[in-house]
Amino acid sequence: MRKLIAGNWKMNGLQAELADIAAIADAVSAHLGVDTALCVPATLIQTAATRFASMAIGGQDCHMAVSGAHTGCVSAEMLADAGAKLTIVGHSERRAAQGESDADIRGKALAAKRAGIGAIVCVGETEAERDAGQAEAIVLGQLAGSLPDEAASNWLSVAYEPVWAIGTGRIPSVEDVAAMHAAIRGALVARFGEDGAAIRILYGGSMNGENAASLLAIANVDGGLIGGASLKAEKFLPIVQAAA
Ligand code: PGA
Repeated sequence: MRKLIAGNWKMNGLQAELADIAAIADAVSAHLGVDTALCVPATLIQTAATRFASMAIGGQDCHMAVSGAHTGCVSAEMLADAGAKLTIVGHSERRAAQGESDADIRGKALAAKRAGIGAIVCVGETEAERDAGQAEAIVLGQLAGSLPDEAASNWLSVAYEPVWAIGTGRIPSVEDVAAMHAAIRGALVARFGEDGAAIRILYGGSMNGENAASLLAIANVDGGLIGGASLKAEKFLPIVQAAA
C-alpha cells in the first residue's frame, strides 16, 4: 500500500513560517512514491494550498455543521473552500481539551466526506489505560464509535496515536505497534469488508528520522502522523524518505 506521511503543525505557524512550509514542499517533491500532507493552522491553509502543490494541505479539525451559529468554528466546507484536501479529526489533544466524544468525531469525519475532503481519524490509549491492560479495548472502542458506516479507503485514514507517546520521545515497542495495528486492521475488515483492508492505518507519536524506518516496516503501518518532526524540512524529509 502507498504510504501517507502527514504532518500536524498543531497551534504553530505564523505567516513567517510559510518559508518552512515552502522548504518542506520542496523537499518532499522528489518523493513521488509517497503521499504527503501537512495539516497547518486554519490561518495558513489558503496561502499554503495556493502556493505549494507538491503535498496536500490539510486542516486539524472541523465542525460537523455546514455553517451556522458556531462562533469560532470552521466547517469542513470552509476548509475545502480554502484549498484543504483533508483534515485531522479526533486528535487526542482535542478529545482531552475540548471534550470531543466518539460521536462528535464521527460527525466531523462525515462532514469531511460531505465537503469532499479526506479525514484522518485519531485513536489512542492513555498511559494509565495501557498500564491497566486496556489499550486494545480502548482503541477498538474509539474506533467503533468514531468511524462512520460510510468509512472508505478513498477518503478516510485511521491514525493510532498512543497519548503517552505524543511529544514525549517515547514510542511503543515494535511488538506493541504490530499488535495494535493488527487489531485495528481486524476491526476495519470485520466492519468494512474488503475495503477495510485498504484503509490506511498511520502510526503517530514521537515518530522521527531515527525511528521512522523501523516503525514503517511493521505490518499494517501504512504511514505516519508527525507532530514535532514536521515543523522543519530537515526533520520531516528523513521520515518521508523512510516511507519511500
Ligand atoms: P509528535 O505528535 O510527533 O510530536 O509526538 C504527533 C501528533 O500529535 O500527531
